Amino acid sequence: MKPDRSDCIFCRIAAHEVPKTFRYEDDVLMVFDDIRPSAPVHLLIVPKRHIPSVVDFGTAERALAGELILAANLAAADAGIKDGYKLVFNAGRKGGQIIDHVHLHLLGGWSQDQE
Ligand code: 5GP
Ligand code: ZN
Repeated sequence: MKPDRSDCIFCRIAAHEVPKTFRYEDDVLMVFDDIRPSAPVHLLIVPKRHIPSVVDFGTAERALAGELILAANLAAADAGIKDGYKLVFNAGRKGGQIIDHVHLHLLGGWSQDQE
């Protein structure tokens, strides 16, 4: 499979050009660990198709939006954190987005006494 964008790291991961251990993968999306985790469990749920940001989601992405959230819930259960986690889309530079290929952050695994 050729990447949608050869200059996009997540497209290259989707095309298996960059070696990556997937927690989950199907034709539509992939789940893998963030390279610089901000939480004990920090996974990224990433559509394979290149869409720059969640800001670009329209009605054509309605089903995909649902799939990303369901995949995150399953990944949380697999990672043993379904009792509590955060799902975050950073949208645009002002929203903290660095990689311009949409991805959903799944963060969790904190001990109970942590804020
Ligand atoms: P953003 O700020 O765009 O929402 O998040 C991008 C995330 O992707 C960051 O948390 C960053 O650590 C992660 N990241 C950047 N490059 C790579 C990579 O090559 N592999 C993986 N697994 N994560 C990456
Ligand atoms: Zn891409």
